[in-house]
Amino acid sequence: MLHTNLDVNNQGHLTFAGFDTVSLCEKYGTPLMLLDEERVRANLRIYLTEMKKAFGEGSFPCFASKSLSFTDIYRIVKEEGAGIDIVSPGELYTAAHAGFPLEKSFFHGNNKTDEDIAYALSEGIGYFVVDNEEELYEIERQSAEKNHVQNILIRLSPGVDPHTHEKITTGQVDSKFGIAIETGQAIEFVGKALSCKHIKLMGYHCHVGSQSFDSKCFMDAAAIMLSFIREVLDKYGAETEILNLGGGFGVRYVDSDPHIDIPFNIRLLAENIKACCADLKILMPKIIMEPGRSIVADAGLTLYTCGSVKTITGYKSYVSIDGGMADNPRYALYSSAYTVLNASKADKPADLVATIAGRCCESGDLIQEGVSIARPERGDKIAVLVTGAYNYSMASNYNRLPRPPIVSLYKGTDRVVVKRESFADLVKNDL
Ligand SMILES: *Cc1c(COP(=O)(O)O)cnc(C)c1O
Repeated sequence: MLHTNLDVNNQGHLTFAGFDTVSLCEKYGTPLMLLDEERVRANLRIYLTEMKKAFGEGSFPCFASKSLSFTDIYRIVKEEGAGIDIVSPGELYTAAHAGFPLEKSFFHGNNKTDEDIAYALSEGIGYFVVDNEEELYEIERQSAEKNHVQNILIRLSPGVDPHTHEKITTGQVDSKFGIAIETGQAIEFVGKALSCKHIKLMGYHCHVGSQSFDSKCFMDAAAIMLSFIREVLDKYGAETEILNLGGGFGVRYVDSDPHIDIPFNIRLLAENIKACCADLKILMPKIIMEPGRSIVADAGLTLYTCGSVKTITGYKSYVSIDGGMADNPRYALYSSAYTVLNASKADKPADLVATIAGRCCESGDLIQEGVSIARPERGDKIAVLVTGAYNYSMASNYNRLPRPPIVSLYKGTDRVVVKRESFADLVKNDL
């Protein structure tokens, strides 16, 4: 199977984290999102252990919580001792609500409003990752009012193209994110940040993309960022202690995706960074990475119920399910690949090639096309694998579909961590 938390039991049902997925559907209904909590913790620990070993004390991962944000996930991350990256006041609120220590959080985004800044300051945010000049001066203004000195990183665009999907490529010069090094604007910006009395420039951030299967783009970005640190030292005599390299390690969605050895890639990256620092004669900064997908993707699974199988004579077959783009918009948005199985007949050969269609009134509401699957019948449970990242967090109420619940599976216990939305929830803000 694609990941080690998947198997088939003697009833021919798909199991996930040791649980019979068909029984869970009977207990909780569908659509249903499952979270293998042990897998989340194990994925976090890989980064926690390997980063400390490779980069030294003070280097740690921050979970990019835009990939999966709900109260309990922040509690898990807190227990494991990682930091978090947040991108909105809503994520900040959820983290605070979970009791997450906000001094270990980084507030990202290309447009933080005055209200966002005030709210984050009042909650004691650890770091703003500053994206533009307007924001820099607003943080300075509000911090001065509070007689406070705020830690920041500056988001830079190093001009690296990680060759992944265009919409998830963010490190190139022409991007809505960050300040370009290549154009000279970044070095100028550092001068402005250094002149702010209520801001402490702690370092730099970049995020070159997503779903990378090696450390090449991290190394390219790190080399550029480290040269920039040297340039700042030469020009302003300012040393900074943090280099945040963002997220981006990939995850296997389908059998044809490569395997990635994250510990090996972290070690390789560390060797490169050390050599680069020695060449440039700068101190090795503390390294922060912000994995999202590689923490939660393979810890998630979505289950649906099949309503119909339609074969258009001479064309193709459609398997209709009771969810779709409202809970997983990624195929509609990015044509993302997914593995789809008949969870009720996981021991049967895949004898049907079909398009898996959601229930929304929208032709583009597909989960996947051209899937080989054991022919389902009405009532069979359909599993979409590796849906822990950017599914629930991107879910909407399109077509007034209530969002599914999240059930956590941990140490043999299944527990609802996010309730299924009710119809009453759908109208609660309507006056
Ligand atoms: C999205 C994002 C991440 C996480 O990326 P993954 O590909 O999920 O690891 C990290 N940092 C920033 C700034 C991001 O925008």
